Amino acid sequence: MPISFVTETPLPPPPASALFHTKTASPVERANDLLSRMTLDEKIGQMALVEKNSIATTTDIASYGIGALLSGAGAKPQDNTANGWLSMVENFVTASQSSRLGIPILYGIDAIHGHSNVPGATVFPHAIGIGATGDADLTTAIASATRDELLATGINWNFAPTLDLPQDIRWGRTYETFSDDPLRTSALASAYVKGLQGTTKPGESKLALSTLKHYIGAGSMKWNSTSNKNFHIDQGTTIVDEQALRSTYLQPFTQAINTGAGSVMVGLSSWGDTKLAAQKYLITDVLKGELAFSGFVVSDWYGVYEIPGGTYAATVLALNAGVDMVMLPFDYKTFIKNVRSAVAHGDIPQSRIDDAVRRILTTKFELGLFEAQATDKPSLSVVGNAMHRALARKAVSESLVLLKNNNVTLPISKSVRRIVVAGSAADNIGRQSGAWTVEWQGIDGNWLPGATSILSGIRATAGNDVDVSYDLHGNFAPTSPQADIGIAIVGETPYAEGWGDTANPTLTTEDIATIEKVKKVSKKVLVIIVSGRPLMISHELPTWDATIAAWLPGSEGGGVADVLFGDTTFTGTLPLPWPDHSEQLPISVDGHTADGTAVLFPRYFGRTK
Ligand code: BGC
Repeated sequence: MPISFVTETPLPPPPASALFHTKTASPVERANDLLSRMTLDEKIGQMALVEKNSIATTTDIASYGIGALLSGAGAKPQDNTANGWLSMVENFVTASQSSRLGIPILYGIDAIHGHSNVPGATVFPHAIGIGATGDADLTTAIASATRDELLATGINWNFAPTLDLPQDIRWGRTYETFSDDPLRTSALASAYVKGLQGTTKPGESKLALSTLKHYIGAGSMKWNSTSNKNFHIDQGTTIVDEQALRSTYLQPFTQAINTGAGSVMVGLSSWGDTKLAAQKYLITDVLKGELAFSGFVVSDWYGVYEIPGGTYAATVLALNAGVDMVMLPFDYKTFIKNVRSAVAHGDIPQSRIDDAVRRILTTKFELGLFEAQATDKPSLSVVGNAMHRALARKAVSESLVLLKNNNVTLPISKSVRRIVVAGSAADNIGRQSGAWTVEWQGIDGNWLPGATSILSGIRATAGNDVDVSYDLHGNFAPTSPQADIGIAIVGETPYAEGWGDTANPTLTTEDIATIEKVKKVSKKVLVIIVSGRPLMISHELPTWDATIAAWLPGSEGGGVADVLFGDTTFTGTLPLPWPDHSEQLPISVDGHTADGTAVLFPRYFGRTK
């Protein structure tokens, strides 16, 4: 039997004439009116963000007045299609509208490179590839395409863009970032917010809600060799001081907030000895005060409970620090009990609860959630449509960074007759998409509907007159003459968060062996690196004719062939320095390596031919 926490006398529904129902009133006026009609329990419910699989019964959404639900990465509907997502989310939204006040939920998801949780959606390059394009208009277009795919499935909240600045590529979340450069990150983050939300300044009505994450300092955490197998950096301690936080990490937040970003997520790392979710100075004084951020602050996955002291003390600290909505993500009943009791004991002032809920409700009004009609949504046919795929293909082409091109290897002449292709990432859409694709840690193989592997793209562009032979491991019989060009497409297997922390990002021995085999049967060898970060290649690089950093291109592998065969030119540049060896890490924002030696390629290196 569900435990009832409703101790206050149930109130009747507000009249249809209530100000908050009036479309012409401003979002703030409507939020204030609604707030004045709410019980404490109804307010607390709005502050809860619950993982959809943790909702005990759908009726709990209205009973507890839950403010928002999320699909943690990989938390899919049983029918894992765009239509299945739409039915699931609509079901939750309808449930929320049956509460006394009928406040619709927000539904959040990590659509960090397109609506990539849904098989058949367009999977854009991960942020690091977008950073390599440096193209703000493209970023806006990608964000608005992502928004349409999200809205078509009923989802109105995206936990993107990421504004972290990676100073140490050993960090497993490097590929989620645009760049280590605050300037490029600021420009692309604002461009993303503009596209996703359709805003250019705070307080405007929004088509969908973006989240700037992870506030603040993420990317400058110290490598910790003594931690467990993983998580050597992720969720660790930020080492920069306040002055550096302000001059670097705060910049992208400032710019994206000025573009109207509606929510900010506080990270899971610590600054000094204190978890960010407990940093009142940074959240209330700096973010809400100095930066005048008027949206709401959400905590990251279980982040509040990582503050030591137990769930009650942690909740009190985080809410008083300025967190408005808590990504619990599991146990909403304990949260509601704790907050109610903290208010009763005077541990959390009522004014703090009101401020948090006012921010959340104002955002919901700005999003038009109270007016939304099913017919306002883009139709399901936008999910993975040809236009979005063409945009993704263009993004792939623009994101490729040409690191080396000797012996006139590229572009590949249309007169070549024999090409051999090999390698772990040549014909594997799961690998070229990276993590946060259908599953949190990514997928393997070629089963995403409508997607194209890099190999398929090469075959299609080379045409029928060219013999393109493929072998995963590069086991080709020697021919005379040798193949005109050998293309080894190698790199990392997908990983997410701390699972990608690694002491020395390199190619595997198997990948290196494949490249060697390709070399033996080809006149020239091109190595395409599919990875979420630079890899240590300084020993092997001199033996390759040409090299491309392709990052994690996503579903449209054809974009690689467009550049290989010269249909478009190379324009991508490195969004962060490419180290020569791991002792150089971390590399400071102004490009200084830890051991003072020169990097292999500096930030913004990229050949055009
Ligand atoms: C990540 C966030 C993400 C959240 C929800 C956390 O583990 O740190 O970036 O938005 O999960 O999936």
